[in-house]
Amino acid sequence: MKGSPTWLKRTGQTWKILVFGVLILVGMVLFGFFVAVVNGKVEDGDIMYSAFAFMGAAFAAFVWLTFAIRCPECGSKPAWHFMRTAHHQTWVQELLRMEDCPSCRR
Ligand SMILES: [Zn+2]
Repeated sequence: MKGSPTWLKRTGQTWKILVFGVLILVGMVLFGFFVAVVNGKVEDGDIMYSAFAFMGAAFAAFVWLTFAIRCPECGSKPAWHFMRTAHHQTWVQELLRMEDCPSCRR
């Protein structure tokens, strides 16, 4: 924490994280629905469809984050960089906190 604006804020891409959060939230709701279907709590609930629904939402969230967040200077995709290199529990925080592009350092 050096008090300088994060790279996401500087490049005006914070809203893309919000979209990611909404997609994850939708995925969690669909997962809850899937669990309810599996447990027979939903009448005529289809396990296959509800499984595809929550996996699809989660997949869409990660695809969105990977391709939506781009460095305006070098065109690299920092979200993808952190997904590959950072710990799976901290990569979101690292992405949120980064102060410069992991590829070009701008
Ligand atoms: Zn860059």
